[in-house]
Amino acid sequence: MNFRALSGGVPIGGSHYLIELEGKRIVIDCGAVQTGGKVLPPPIAKGHIDALLVTHGHFDHIGMLPLFVKEHPDTPIYGTKVTWRFARMILWDSYFVTLKKLERGEKVETHFSASDIERALTLKRFNVVREPEWFSPWPGWKVRFWPAGHINGAASIHIISPKGFRIIHSGDISFQNQPTIKGAKVINDIFSPEVLITEGTYGDRNLPNRIEEGWRFINQVVKTVKDDGKVLIPSFSITGPNIGIILANGLTRAGVDIPVHLDGMVRTAAGIISGSNEWSPNDNGLVFPKNLIAVPEKDPNDPDKSYAYRQKILDGGPAIIVSSHGMLEGGLAMFYLQHLITDYKSAVLLPGYQAEGTGGRRLLELERGHYFQINRRPFPIYCDVKRFQLSSHASGNELAGWVSEIQPWHVIITHAPNSAARGLEQKIKERHPSIRVSKGFNGEDVSLD
Ligand SMILES: [Zn+2]
Repeated sequence: MNFRALSGGVPIGGSHYLIELEGKRIVIDCGAVQTGGKVLPPPIAKGHIDALLVTHGHFDHIGMLPLFVKEHPDTPIYGTKVTWRFARMILWDSYFVTLKKLERGEKVETHFSASDIERALTLKRFNVVREPEWFSPWPGWKVRFWPAGHINGAASIHIISPKGFRIIHSGDISFQNQPTIKGAKVINDIFSPEVLITEGTYGDRNLPNRIEEGWRFINQVVKTVKDDGKVLIPSFSITGPNIGIILANGLTRAGVDIPVHLDGMVRTAAGIISGSNEWSPNDNGLVFPKNLIAVPEKDPNDPDKSYAYRQKILDGGPAIIVSSHGMLEGGLAMFYLQHLITDYKSAVLLPGYQAEGTGGRRLLELERGHYFQINRRPFPIYCDVKRFQLSSHASGNELAGWVSEIQPWHVIITHAPNSAARGLEQKIKERHPSIRVSKGFNGEDVSLD
């Protein structure tokens, strides 16, 4: 077997991995990352590819599916239906954002056309995986998508070759429960592979307990609204609905009668989660509480409806808004931010990781009174800015514990910054000196006999 992270191995980036085994060439994911307003695609796998297996619908895993299809027009794609729906939402959004930039005369690279998106997502090419059961893409081969707990529809991928060689690719994985998705479990079905290819995003870290961190977050929101302030929670579109649910339920328990508003792509993602059939018993889209409210969509008969509603939120008393983009790189979060940033009673609470070079990271690094640029205009920061760790990735100890449970011969670490990959390697070797551990450096082969 040969494994190569074309991108998104070590260090982290848009995920694109190649597995070569017994004459088959299988690609996992094809994503991109966005920094400083630029989208960075991975180097697309060359040569014949037998299948592209998609683990989940985050941009860094699906963002370049249309570019892959341009180069590999005959390769079938496999993924869950929720992943397909998230991919459709994200790819069209990314396409229209690029179009708008071009209309404004900005220099942006277009990586694919509208017809490339249609070709990637046509259900003639995209094979929907409807349940976590084995299927056979080619004679003698078995493949299974297994609930990975990270976001709705997310899967780890299990492969058994005709000679009986077994591989797990974790995808992005979480072992903690979230309101609409249970954490990954291996109980009752321990699949022990020869090779485990695992993400290691937080491989060197112990993350705070998700429930305790959730309450720290809720308490901060309660404090701000009780002091008559407004709270903006910039969030990734797909994780935003779960953050909204945690918060809305927490407010009910705290006796605070203020609704949580979902806006931007968070609102669209909430519609996908609540309106999709579950592909596994771990997904549950029917848990949205009544005090979680979507800002109305654009209405062709009443074009000002959405903005009038938003203005009412801003003109009124205490309010709570969960909106994309999660790293303040655009989206409706910027609209709310420009109204709240100068209000000393309000707060911006960042629940997710803020990558270097992003608006969210800059806002965290600046001090009160410093200026922050929104749409090329400087705004002084008077609001409160805080970061929380409501991560949907496994910690280093959880990953090392997983390795103990499934006992692979060889672990390949991907999707990790250098320090996290080193930290996870150390944790695994301390517990299991006999397990071989490799870091999947981008562009380098990891070969096993
Ligand atoms: Zn992800």
